[in-house]
Amino acid sequence: TARCAKALQLTLAVIKPDAVAHPLILEALHQKILENKFIIVKSKEIVWQRRDSERFYAEHKGRFFYQRLVEFMSSGPMWAYILAREEAVSHWRALMGPTKVFRARYVAPGSIRAGFGLTDTRNTTHGSDSEDSARREIAFFFPEFSVAEWMESAEPAFR
Ligand code: ADP
Ligand code: MG
Repeated sequence: TARCAKALQLTLAVIKPDAVAHPLILEALHQKILENKFIIVKSKEIVWQRRDSERFYAEHKGRFFYQRLVEFMSSGPMWAYILAREEAVSHWRALMGPTKVFRARYVAPGSIRAGFGLTDTRNTTHGSDSEDSARREIAFFFPEFSVAEWMESAEPAFR
């Protein structure tokens, strides 16, 4: 049996509170996920307490934007997705565009952050930056989900 040239990969994508607050933007981002041939493995709406933000973004503790970041990420509902496709991590990062909105508008004008981002902090989306981060972040958002089990059951469909 011929296998996919590149292996199926999972990533964690989050639509942040600024985008969830606008139903049309939320809908546009949902469509974007589907148009780009991601499989939505799991999704849920979630509201963070401040301590969840602080734990998730611990690597940024001490940076000048940390306080506003953790406040923003616990300011309202978000949508979290486990997405699957080939090269899911890099593909979702490319669709999002660079972190900073004005940079995104300059170097990646068609990207999600260029189109919908409000500020460098309120930049509409999160995406894991490596396969290791994806594994850690999927466990953070979906502790009941087993990547190994899912891979085992899903892989035959991609041969
Ligand atoms: P990314 O989300 O692109 O992986 P980082 O991991 O560097 O970016 O930062 C996490 C989040 O912190 C960003 O998505 C953004 O919301 C916020 N952030 C990062 N850098 C800045 C900055 N220079 N000014 C304001 N907010 C920032
Ligand atoms: Mg990051």
